[in-house]
Amino acid sequence: MKLFDTMSREVRELHPSDGKTFRFYACGPTVYGPAHIGNFRTFVLQDVFRRTLELSGIDTMHVRNFTDVDDKTIRDSQAAGKTLTDFTDHWRDRFRKDCERLQLLQPHIEPSAVEHIPHQIAMIEELVEKGHAYRSDDGSVYYKVSSFDGYGRLSRLDQRELREGASGAVADDEYEKDSVADFALWKGRREEDGENYWDSPWGEGRPGWHLECSAMCREYLGENFDLHSGGVDLVFPHHENEIAQSEACTGTCMADHWFHLTHLLVDGGKMSKSAGNFYTLDQLIEAGFSPAELRYVLISAHYRQPLNFVARDNDGNESFPALAAAKQALQRIAKFDAALLNRLQSDAEQGWVTDLTGLSRFREVTDLGAFADAFAGLQDDLNTPDALGRIFSAIKSIKPDGLSPDEAAKERLGLRFVLVALGLELPDLDAAADIEVPAEIAALAEQRYAAKQEKNWEEADRLRDEIGAAGWEIKDSKEGYEVCPKN
Ligand code: AMP
Ligand code: ZN
Repeated sequence: MKLFDTMSREVRELHPSDGKTFRFYACGPTVYGPAHIGNFRTFVLQDVFRRTLELSGIDTMHVRNFTDVDDKTIRDSQAAGKTLTDFTDHWRDRFRKDCERLQLLQPHIEPSAVEHIPHQIAMIEELVEKGHAYRSDDGSVYYKVSSFDGYGRLSRLDQRELREGASGAVADDEYEKDSVADFALWKGRREEDGENYWDSPWGEGRPGWHLECSAMCREYLGENFDLHSGGVDLVFPHHENEIAQSEACTGTCMADHWFHLTHLLVDGGKMSKSAGNFYTLDQLIEAGFSPAELRYVLISAHYRQPLNFVARDNDGNESFPALAAAKQALQRIAKFDAALLNRLQSDAEQGWVTDLTGLSRFREVTDLGAFADAFAGLQDDLNTPDALGRIFSAIKSIKPDGLSPDEAAKERLGLRFVLVALGLELPDLDAAADIEVPAEIAALAEQRYAAKQEKNWEEADRLRDEIGAAGWEIKDSKEGYEVCPKN
């Protein structure tokens, strides 16, 4: 498998450096609220990445942390009147539930920052000893950026920027590139942190965010591992700082490959609560869409391209055209899958092929039939839109009715293989979609819709009853309505 590497700015082949297991780290969620669909763009594509590696025959070790102590978790737990633990536990559970619904494979290890404070303190001691960190008057410890030669390599800060910027020290976890500065490894206890402080050789306080990941990477993946990953916003300062901390401690290259995912935009802009364009999985389910449909949308663009999620039409009304298209696309694949299944002799049916977590069984499959190209697209810099396009080309080229049971079994295995790589669950076939609605019922339904648009509720209700009396039922949705036979 090949993937673009942010450090070298090249697409490079991936190999486990120990010859056995590909070890990678993904910066996990900050558990101070629900994860939004932008966060899930990153986590879903990291999941497709892992699935592709495993289906290529490479074992993985996937570590993803929970950031459960930082400026934001402390601030918001206090605003909620909860202890940091109660507060972050709640959002951790919610995150796990969303991940499950989105078919994300569980990482092999999910460490949390709060549980690794001794590891972080040990690392700071090492950095102080080696002359890379210093204690300030307020009991904080800062990383001395000028002490590390490679600083700026990942984000390509040039030396001039560094010289001009690297003055003073910044205590905040998050800051912009134009304020390159010594950053906090340990923050001396401040009143606003409340009960959230720990003992250390420099007095009471708490760790800085950047250090948490360095300590957890080292603990679970060692001094050098295969790949590190996160959204593109983490290149600077977070990952730049992780490299500086880890490599100054160990003297070895931290990660051999850096995998960064471009952001999801909503209606062309950054997603934020204040702009009212912040979407969670729950909200989209409420609007009538499934987790698989969201997953389909999130993988529909290449990870190095921005993905614009349209959420409003020209009149400013909420509307999700990409999700509606994903619903149809998944129905089409499901119909094709059912047509292949139809051709199989019952004893040739392989029940396990629908299990999205059953990757090891699929590793034994060698012939993907017409779907081989789709998987090759994933192995080539994780080209998910290409893989989706090739699924539909294959579907177009195959006529299930003309296949022998063996041929149908082979194509179905190929299709299911690629769906497992993408983590896409097929919907139950929409029975209503195949049932012809009589013209007179369709006409009544149209009249009712028009009455509703005119807010003529009485007439709309009367028409609903008339349609009901004829054995049909109307289901209203955001897009309009659907007519189905009454159960
Ligand atoms: P956070 O919970 O803010 O620490 O972020 C968790 C992950 O989501 C990180 O890898 C971020 O880089 C990533 N992320 C944040 N916002 C977006 C976005 N709009 N699109 C894609 N990824 C994002
Ligand atoms: Zn991190």
